[in-house]
Amino acid sequence: MATQDFYALLGVPDSASPDDIKKAYRKLAKQHHPDANPNNPASAEKFKAISEANSVLSDPEKKAKYDQMRRLGAFGGFGARTSPSGGGRARRPGAQQPMDEGIDLGDFGSFGLGDIFSSIFGKGRRPEESGAAEPVEVSVAVPFRTAAVGGKVPMTLAMSDSCATCGGTGAEPGATMSTCDECKGRGTIAFGQGGFAVQRPCPACRGRGTTPSARCTACSGIGEQRTQKQILVTVPPATESGTRVRLKGQGPKTRAGGQAGDILVSFTVEPDAFFSRDGLNIHCKIPISLSQAMLGTTAQVNTVHGSKVKLKIPAGTQSGRKFRVKGQGLEKGGQKGDQLVTVQVKIPEKLTPEQTEAFKAFADSMKG
Ligand SMILES: [Zn+2]
Ligand SMILES: [Zn+2]
Repeated sequence: MATQDFYALLGVPDSASPDDIKKAYRKLAKQHHPDANPNNPASAEKFKAISEANSVLSDPEKKAKYDQMRRLGAFGGFGARTSPSGGGRARRPGAQQPMDEGIDLGDFGSFGLGDIFSSIFGKGRRPEESGAAEPVEVSVAVPFRTAAVGGKVPMTLAMSDSCATCGGTGAEPGATMSTCDECKGRGTIAFGQGGFAVQRPCPACRGRGTTPSARCTACSGIGEQRTQKQILVTVPPATESGTRVRLKGQGPKTRAGGQAGDILVSFTVEPDAFFSRDGLNIHCKIPISLSQAMLGTTAQVNTVHGSKVKLKIPAGTQSGRKFRVKGQGLEKGGQKGDQLVTVQVKIPEKLTPEQTEAFKAFADSMKG
């Protein structure tokens, strides 16, 4: 909650006057007041949140600090450190950055802003220690035919995970822990800049308050490791662009020992050179020769299912005519689409003298 945008909470623009803020707060406070909403925990929580927002935004000094933090991007707009390769990008919507997940913010170092925020506004809040991480959203490109009939696509997700060697403590196995000299075990140190001093997580112990006699060599004492997680994502049949699936518990963890979050996979279907789609129907175009169109033929047509079907093209078929191949479309929810084949008659660009003569004779025969 600490990283929720106060202006958004009160429903005012950040240019709002003190009067507008007061009005907006009063209106919301009346609406969510516990007296008006007995036994409503959601309202109680909201009331608390808007009260907190008001207490900061109605105090010019606190508001100035808050605005400065906000300009630095403290309350949203960070990309998570997780980023997939070979399949789009990952983000955590509105993620509250846990302390052990670094974020790069210049002078603030790689620490969670929730802590800096807490120290400024005296709330002493900490990110959830046990809750599961926010879901990570990943966009994955799917080949047209895989999306049509279903299948699996590989995805590589680069993410931080707690170090396998030390389990996230940053201590070499067997090391003894002692109070951090830098912060005397408080886990925070004062940090002053630009006229205001804040407490920030101690860089020596990364906010833990203790330091090991020997740092974990696998992660240099950070407690986390970058891993490339390979995941085979199942693509349901008749998947469309924008279709999402949730991979439970396959995402990164919030912190050492925390529960792994989910991955929200959003599919983007790639176009195909031969097939296109319209709901459950598949469309394609096949070329036939002039004589095939005039005399009739049987064409072999590829289906999206990987098979070939025979298509009877009658004599006298016009270019652009569509043929329906029943049941060769996509299948979803017990419904089956068709394949619609458009024939395109290719006119020969060059004729031999004999062919020219033959066509002249043909043209003569058509007269009258
Ligand atoms: Zn380690
Ligand atoms: Zn320390």
